[in-house]
Amino acid sequence: MGISLRKRVLVTGGAGFLGSHLCRRLLDAGHDVLCVDNFFTGSKDNILELLDNPHFELIRHDVTFPLYVEVDQIYNLACPASPIHYQFDPVQTTKTSVHGAINMLGLAKRVKATILQASTSEVYGDPEIHPQTEEYWGRVNPIGIRACYDEGKRCAETLFFDYYRQHGLPIKVARIFNTYGPRMHPNDGRVVSNFIMQALRGEPITLFGDGNQTRSFCYVDDLIEGLIRLMETPKEVTGPINLGNPVEFTIRELAERVIELTSSSSKLVYQPLPQDDPKQRQPNIDLAEKTLGWKPTIQLNDGLEKTIAYFSKF
Ligand code: NAD
Ligand code: UDP
Ligand code: UDP
Repeated sequence: MGISLRKRVLVTGGAGFLGSHLCRRLLDAGHDVLCVDNFFTGSKDNILELLDNPHFELIRHDVTFPLYVEVDQIYNLACPASPIHYQFDPVQTTKTSVHGAINMLGLAKRVKATILQASTSEVYGDPEIHPQTEEYWGRVNPIGIRACYDEGKRCAETLFFDYYRQHGLPIKVARIFNTYGPRMHPNDGRVVSNFIMQALRGEPITLFGDGNQTRSFCYVDDLIEGLIRLMETPKEVTGPINLGNPVEFTIRELAERVIELTSSSSKLVYQPLPQDDPKQRQPNIDLAEKTLGWKPTIQLNDGLEKTIAYFSKF
């Protein structure tokens, strides 16, 4: 890429799972990357080999406080994503989504940057519409234990669209469905990392509920490609756009798949289903296919193999 095309790109939450992959892809594409993270769930290990790159900068900063930097694009990913982490300090989770969005939108407005929000399939809550399309308004319990995350993300979407309508800010909202891959936190409690770690250690695989609830799992490389394509769309493309893999599995099928791929002797054990746990989730990605020419290419088995190889190091 020619030097004139080099952009200054801010990635909040850049030391997390998705953020660290995104920082790498942006550097590979020839951009200057500014990673902002408070290291709540992310870590320097995720970005260790980027620290020597002169086009990469790291700032320890909490996005609930104002930030004054000069950039061309902002990917707003800062927010814990796993239920055990976002429920650890729920007030801080809401602050991160809401105050974080206000600060990053204020920054984008001042420097005239395009800003992309990492929203989530959780805005659909425990859905009555299946698969979920972007038109669906969702079914979220506003006072439940997941609300700090779900409602925080919903309010962030509101703020993005009000900055778009009120200030003409170029915005992009991606609704990300369950994504997995290397550099997920091994203890973050999400299902893919839990099952792989349990299988590798020969420990029981913990199925919450009857294991018949479904999720659709997207490999991280596919997801990052979708985010970058969305950022590069013309101003009139705001989203929200679902990004995820539409191939749906039950959680029990996932457990069986992980046991098979790790040749593990682990047995399934059943534990209570957490409150408000969505029963089914599958993205309709027609809009992403039409607008971004994007769809996932990596099959669950291939993605799981790469993820298992990563977790084998722990
Ligand atoms: P993650 O927990 O690995 O990354 C989040 C990052 O944000 C971490 O590095 C964390 O330290 C940082 N962070 C948290 N609060 C912060 C704050 N107040 N100030 C600065 N940094 C802060 O999670 P992830 O899976 O990489 O998720 C990234 C984003 O994508 C999140 O916004 C999440 O809601 C969204 N998302 C992820 C998934 C998924 O399946 N991975 C699905 C839907 C949405
Ligand atoms: N802000 C920031 N960096 C900037 C500009 C603004 O962090 O470069 C924050 C600031 O704290 C402000 C918020 O973004 O409160 C919203 O900014 P906006 O200009 O939309 O509204 P204000 O509250 O300043 O009227
Ligand atoms: N889950 C499970 N065992 C675990 C962790 C999660 O059965 O050890 C289930 C969880 O109840 C949910 C699904 O797997 O139905 C996905 O959970 P995760 O926390 O990864 O993501 P989310 O619920 O936010 O989609």
